[in-house]
Amino acid sequence: MHAMHRLCILGSTGSIGVSTLDVVARHPDRFQVYALSAHSRIEALAEQAWRTGARVVVVPDDAARARFMAAWPAGRRPPELRQGAQALADTAADPEVTAVMAAIVGAAGLPGALAAARAGKRVLLANKEALVAAGNLFMRAVREAGAELLPIDSEHNAIFQCLPRGAARAHAPADPAPGVRRLLLTASGGPFRRVALDQLEGVTPEQACAHPNWRMGRKISVDSATMLNKGLEVIEAHWLFSMPLQRIQVVIHPQSVVHSMVEYEDGSILAQLGQPDMRTPIAYGLGFPERIDSGVGLLELSRLGRLDFEEPDLLRFPCLRLSLDALGSGQAACIALNAANEIAVDGFLNGRIRYTQIPDIIERCLDDSVTRSGGDPGSLDDILALDAQTRRMAADLCHATD
Ligand code: NDP
Repeated sequence: MHAMHRLCILGSTGSIGVSTLDVVARHPDRFQVYALSAHSRIEALAEQAWRTGARVVVVPDDAARARFMAAWPAGRRPPELRQGAQALADTAADPEVTAVMAAIVGAAGLPGALAAARAGKRVLLANKEALVAAGNLFMRAVREAGAELLPIDSEHNAIFQCLPRGAARAHAPADPAPGVRRLLLTASGGPFRRVALDQLEGVTPEQACAHPNWRMGRKISVDSATMLNKGLEVIEAHWLFSMPLQRIQVVIHPQSVVHSMVEYEDGSILAQLGQPDMRTPIAYGLGFPERIDSGVGLLELSRLGRLDFEEPDLLRFPCLRLSLDALGSGQAACIALNAANEIAVDGFLNGRIRYTQIPDIIERCLDDSVTRSGGDPGSLDDILALDAQTRRMAADLCHATD
């Protein structure tokens, strides 16, 4: 008999949030939705809360609260409405909650994910930016509170599945798993893998968001086009699996069927394959250690015919190089990388800068963070202060190019 999980889904209106609710709806005997949160899609949140019977919803401000109430069916008792960033963290740590899906995009997701870890929950971590900005702090919190950390990012979920069983993996190991030589992170190469370099300057947000294999939120779609996403994932893998940078290799695999691999000392490589559908890693995290239905159909390998692999071109993907440099430089550089990227991507999506200016802005912010004195930020407040400082600098750089 399995235990019933009471779930808090942070970022329930996003791509991961919606996929999570899809899997959850298939297993009413296993999961109860306790809390949901959204930022701008408040009417969609009301519909989700109505459908799932969520007891709590978290919205950003008074205006969102009013929109929620306007969208709620008249005469029906609404869920408890909580409001603001602190309420997100408090709800993640709510004693009623047993598992938290951390699916807010960007560094805004860090406080909630960290609060869930500190409260010793099962943490389903989709929000990779939390580990990029605060890897040390986050992993320490998981260890100290005895939280159960399950990676949802498809690559890390694949690696998790390929690591030796029994290595206490869900509890944040302090050393690489024994017998492992390297982690091989696959990357599709995004929509611009074959576009002529001199055409990249003119690409539009719509082209950048048209990922060949995955349907995702807009920010991660642009990150996939620049391959900064893969850089964030290298940093994420470093923290999740206690693996040095030199033992993490990025491999381009355009079909996105092999989600990542673990290479062992004896030369064996274990891979996890599947459709490019996030419901598979989400179901793995929700059901762990059992396997549950995700709604994902069969993968017909014979129809695929072939699987290709190639090395990434760091000239085409300068954001990948910048990410690897940031990991080499330390925590402050990783915070700056992430914050500068969030602002630059937003600038690109809103037509303020060109696609090719994204790496320029990140590089300027990274240089600044490296030349500034002071050690690595230790507390959440220090991290958020450096994050805010970098955002201001990146925003100025975006405006300077207007
Ligand atoms: P989306 O943009 O689709 O959704 C983001 C969610 O976060 C939405 O619910 C949004 O609310 C909420 N949100 C946005 N800004 C804030 C804020 N400032 N405060 C509180 N909530 C906020 O993103 P994805 O679902 O694609 O990605 C979510 C996370 O998962 C990211 O970290 C991404 O890197 C990671 N991930 C995503 C994958 C995917 O396939 N999509 C794959 C692997 C990892 P609202 O919609 O109401 O504005």
